[in-house]
This record gives sequence, C-alpha cells and structure tokens, in this order.
Amino acid sequence: MHNISDKITEVNTRIEKAASAANRNTQEITLLAVSKRQPDDLLLEAYRAGLRHFGENYVQEAVAKIERLRLPNAVWHFIGPIQSNKTKVIADHFHWVHSVDRIKIAQRLSDQRNPISAPLNICLQINIDNEPSKSGSSAEQAEETALQIASMPNLQLRGLMAIPQIASHPQQSADAFQRMRSLYQTLKKHSTLSTMDTLSMGMSTDMEAAIGEGATVVRVGTALFGPRNS
Ligand SMILES: *Cc1c(COP(=O)(O)O)cnc(C)c1O
Repeated sequence: MHNISDKITEVNTRIEKAASAANRNTQEITLLAVSKRQPDDLLLEAYRAGLRHFGENYVQEAVAKIERLRLPNAVWHFIGPIQSNKTKVIADHFHWVHSVDRIKIAQRLSDQRNPISAPLNICLQINIDNEPSKSGSSAEQAEETALQIASMPNLQLRGLMAIPQIASHPQQSADAFQRMRSLYQTLKKHSTLSTMDTLSMGMSTDMEAAIGEGATVVRVGTALFGPRNS
C-alpha cells in the first residue's frame, strides 16, 4: 500500500532542501501532482492530504476524473500533447495548459474558452533540447509565439514549460534548465511578457536541478504516486 502523505512529506522535503540550497523561498514553488494513469483513490488521498494542483496528460481520462471527483478548489493542469480536435474539451475543463507549443492551438483555446470563465492560464512549451520526437516551440521561435499568445483575449500567458531530454548525467539536465531560465529571463524583459511568473520544469528525478535554476512549478508523478498503470 502506498502512503501518499508520507510521499508528499518526502517530496516537500526535497523541494525545501533544493530551494534552500538555491537561496529561494519554498513558497515560490508549487507542487503539481501528476495524476495521469493513477486511480481515483490515490488522487483522493493526495487531495485529502492537502494537494490542490493536479496534472493530467490524456484528455478523456482527465475529463472523466474531473467530473467524477468534483474536488472543490482543485486546480487542473493539462500537461500532455494537444491535438486540435481536443482543444474545446481542454478549454472547458482545465484551469491551466502547460503544453501549448504553437499559435494554432493557442488560438483555438482562446476562441473556445468561455469568456465568462477566468482566462485559461498558459505555459508555452519549449523543446529545449531540439528533440525531433518532442513537441514544443524552438527557443528561437519562443518570443514571437509568446507575444502572439499574450495578445489572445481568453488566455493568460503565465510562462514557459519544458521537458528536457532524459539525462545521462545530472549536469545535462541542469544545463537544459539553465537555458530555460535564461530564455525566460530574456522574454520577461519584453514589457508585454514581463508579467509572466511561471517556469514549469522538473519531475520526479530532476526536481532539485530544476529548482536550482528557478522552477516555480515542479510536475511530480512517480515520486508521489508510485509507478503508473500501463
Ligand atoms: C508524466 C509527466 C510528468 C511526471 O513524471 P514523473 O517522472 O512521474 O514525475 C511530468 N511532466 C509531464 C509533462 C509528464 O508527461
């Protein structure tokens, strides 16, 4: 049996240590519990233990969970690849989308978001290691894309997200996170982008390195919930 409260304590301790090593305040860092392919009971346990931010990758699975569980004050983050025919469902059910990688998707999310709802919070996903298999804007394209997203009415551009290449040694992911930090800071110099406040990076195995380079959201699945169902 998993004991989620113990796992949360462990992960929070890792976050605190990494924050303190980087002279950062733990309050700046949000733990996003990645609950994809995890059963309702584990998610509920995490919710009862106080977690409120949940990340999901698969639209159908996520929407079914959101509607089944109806957790008051839960904040749902979509973090998976986005097909255009799924944008409406995402715009209707989520508070955040971390995996926006092109204008077309952002435009559809803005058009389909109910204007009466709060704007949909957006992170632009960056393919920081230029991997052919991974989605994400190139670092070079990021400013132009970010500026266009920032002008869309029903979206609020909050920042950047990245999933670096699987690292063969710890320094490799630290390098990628460092390039993300530098891109984020460059974009924030733009007056239209200066309100961005989110750098979404770091997962179960590399959250310390990400926090060391300024992550404000760490997306943690396995370290909280154990292995996922296949
Ligand atoms: C699955 C996933 C995570 C969580 O990964 P773990 O290694 O289980 O912590 C984080 N971010 C994204 C985008 C994911 O798809």
